Amino acid sequence: MAKLAINGGEPVRKTPFPLYVTIGDEEKRAVMEVLDSTVLSKFLGTWSPDFFGGPRVQKLEREWEAYFGIKHAVSVNSATSGLYAAVGAAGVGPGDEVIVSPYTMSASAAAALVYGGIPVFADIDPDTFCLSPASIRACITPRTKAIIVVDIFGHPAEMNEIMAIAREYNLIVIEDTAQAPGASYHGKFAGTLADMGVFSLNYHKTIHCGEGGIVVTDNPELAERLQLIRNHAEVVVKKKGVENIVNMVGFNYRMTEIEAAIAAEQLKKLEGLVAPRIEAADFLTRELSGLPGLTPPAVQPGVRHGYYVYVMKYDAAATGVPRERIVAALQAEGIPLGQGYVEPIYLQPMYQQRIAYGKDGFPFTYPGYQGTINYERGICPVTERMHFQELLHGDFCHASLSRGDLEDIVRAFRKAFENISGLA
Ligand SMILES: *Cc1c(COP(=O)(O)O)cnc(C)c1O
Repeated sequence: MAKLAINGGEPVRKTPFPLYVTIGDEEKRAVMEVLDSTVLSKFLGTWSPDFFGGPRVQKLEREWEAYFGIKHAVSVNSATSGLYAAVGAAGVGPGDEVIVSPYTMSASAAAALVYGGIPVFADIDPDTFCLSPASIRACITPRTKAIIVVDIFGHPAEMNEIMAIAREYNLIVIEDTAQAPGASYHGKFAGTLADMGVFSLNYHKTIHCGEGGIVVTDNPELAERLQLIRNHAEVVVKKKGVENIVNMVGFNYRMTEIEAAIAAEQLKKLEGLVAPRIEAADFLTRELSGLPGLTPPAVQPGVRHGYYVYVMKYDAAATGVPRERIVAALQAEGIPLGQGYVEPIYLQPMYQQRIAYGKDGFPFTYPGYQGTINYERGICPVTERMHFQELLHGDFCHASLSRGDLEDIVRAFRKAFENISGLA
């Protein structure tokens, strides 16, 4: 039997795994063209043709619309900005409840707070890790205004059911698809399944331009509101003849021409970067299936998973070895495996202490809010079980990994699980 590295044996992998690299000559040329033009951003925060940005920003938006088959794409400088703009466009105001996932990057929930909304955390589905439709339904009150759904790890949420619930209660749905560009659900791209969808172009995502985001919608009024919020709405509404001025306090969420030029090149590469992720995931899932106590990621019918993160479930009761031990053993074998993902959002100090804006706890203490807030540990038992007990995650599918890299991952998992008695 091979001696585990954690017990002094030879590690399976002695060199670091390669970085995910997507930037090439195409992006370099595109950036140089922008620099040569000397116009690095053409946006003007006044009602003029330049209110909608420069040529590359607008070209990127038209290409995004064509690629994803959606009527309106509004570029922004991050997905965080995009989520904030989407919540603003949805008309969320102080005391409105916004149902959100607790198992996501923090901005998905903070977006509600920015407009004085109260995040209400529904629980996730134990197979997709996205919001569970039944849990959403249980969280709806007369104060619910919107739902922010997250296609976490690259797997789209159960959108048919979620949209049906939203229509029943007249709620706006925002799909945070930062982790799932190129994934799909019953033939439609992730990100295009709700009233608004938000993509991220930050460095760590499947495609990137440094920092950036795109909000998409088929609704022209929402598109206009997004464009306004992106670019100093308050000074533009009068000249533009905008009547609904709710949440028309504008920001500067504008993307530069440099980022737009890079993003346009990255969009051309998207499919070529998603397909290898699926191939890698399929290989890992095939090779890791059958290890006792380990469940590879599940894909729901009609779904194309984007595999931004490769997520497994671990059953410590089945192996008799705590999760932290198996993770430490795999890390010792040279595999960058993580346990859990991000802490359930409601456990952050902002929610636990209910301090967001000002010392008096706005919006949690807003007198116009008639509901009851509950951010106690235990409100989302599936999320907590996944995070604190079962989930394992790795950046194991990106397109810069070779078959040899994937084989090392498989070898290390097999070694750890076959010698698991050495960890008990
Ligand atoms: C990365 C990420 C964001 C934020 O994206 P930025 O472009 O960095 O603002 C939001 N939601 C999820 C799920 C993410 O993974």
